[in-house]
Amino acid sequence: MDAAIGARPSYAWRSIIHGRDLLAKGLIKNIGNGQTTSVWIDKWIFDNTLRRPFNKQSLFDLDLRVSNLITPQGSWNYHLLSELFFPPDVVRIMSYPPNLTSPDNYVWAYNRSGCYTVKSGNWLISHLKHVPALISDHEQESRALKAKIWEVKTIPKIKMFLWRALSGALAVSVCLQAHGMNSDPQCAMCEDAIESISHVLFNCWPAREVWEIVNITFPPHGFPDSIHDNIAFLLKVMKQESVSLRIRMAIPWLLWGIWKHRNEVLYAGKLRELNALVSHAIEEAEEWNKIKELQPQTSMSNVPVLRREGHWVKPPIDFLKCNLHMSWLNDSHMCGGAWIVRNHQGDAVFHAREMFLPTSNRIAAELRGMLWVLRSLLDLHLDNIEIWSDCSAAIEAIIDPSNWPRYHSYLDKVHRLISSFGQIVFKVSSTKANSVARDIAVSVTREGRTRSYLARGGPMWLHSRIEEEKRR
Ligand SMILES: [Zn+2]
Repeated sequence: MDAAIGARPSYAWRSIIHGRDLLAKGLIKNIGNGQTTSVWIDKWIFDNTLRRPFNKQSLFDLDLRVSNLITPQGSWNYHLLSELFFPPDVVRIMSYPPNLTSPDNYVWAYNRSGCYTVKSGNWLISHLKHVPALISDHEQESRALKAKIWEVKTIPKIKMFLWRALSGALAVSVCLQAHGMNSDPQCAMCEDAIESISHVLFNCWPAREVWEIVNITFPPHGFPDSIHDNIAFLLKVMKQESVSLRIRMAIPWLLWGIWKHRNEVLYAGKLRELNALVSHAIEEAEEWNKIKELQPQTSMSNVPVLRREGHWVKPPIDFLKCNLHMSWLNDSHMCGGAWIVRNHQGDAVFHAREMFLPTSNRIAAELRGMLWVLRSLLDLHLDNIEIWSDCSAAIEAIIDPSNWPRYHSYLDKVHRLISSFGQIVFKVSSTKANSVARDIAVSVTREGRTRSYLARGGPMWLHSRIEEEKRR
């Protein structure tokens, strides 16, 4: 463990500089682009203990970086992995895909999410001597704020955008530089400041003008250069009754509008009338809130609803429902995956089955399946969709990625795909309500049906069950 600890502030363990040696025993290197992880020196394998991979060959190159094991397309070089490591380690490595857009970081090894918890920390500490203070107040506040984003009244695409803004995951020059990309830190809009996310959304001239048009009272000393503080400020404004309701409701759309405007100017050379941007945002917000009022089911939002449904229920009109199941037996078995999409009448629209390489645990398998289903739905142009899975940990991780750093790379990919959907909701299904998808997936692992396919409708052999669920 070296100074690289500050590489990714949102997951970084800033307050743990003291007691490093101790913590080194609980932190595992989580692979992003692999550039700062040494294959033979860093501990980046976990199988109940934290360790380096076992070496299959007698000679090894001490300078080898994990980035050398990743293809230019960003996936593991399977051929090379099999040459260097024994099969069980190959499975462990391949269970966590690399992520070229983020640096390697440290996550907590002794629980499944990768987030330090008091319980798992105590367990480790009981095996060790000193008690370190682990998560700083700042880090805790930042997590609480990210969690609040999911409750903001707006469309999923904008929630995702806000979450990415808070996570430092928007392509502004400061963030690009942090990811090792050569870019000019100057803001190309005003050429007057460093382009941070906070600058673009609050302090650059279009942003200033927008916030002036809607006439909200700025913080006393203007907006600071902290995206965290500024978004926290706006969330407070959204609750202030002294501000007109139309403006308050439009705040998420205004932020989104400012961001889109910046991209249109920089990449398409289009300058838009900012008054029009504001009125457009207000209209969109009103429209959306009106529709919301007509649909009293709050379940239409992305608010974490982790109540399981007992038996399969049809989706609302204009919505599709997709049930996903991944059949995972152990870390050396192929996994089976299946999904089935049904409409509001309960009729099956499409279903698919696929076989996947072994994965080290159930959550990683489910997230791999989630990427597969999201890509398939986009290919098929299916939108307005509910995705139901019986792996509650995977759904929790998608809803609140900041609490699941171990799966950062999967979740980052999942969220990129989510942003292409208009309306998408993730829910936890009971085993029973997910039985059609489950039976198809299990046919891969139990009956060795390895042929992958995509088909219209549902499978014939489950026809009567689908009809039965439809009648409910
Ligand atoms: Zn600027």
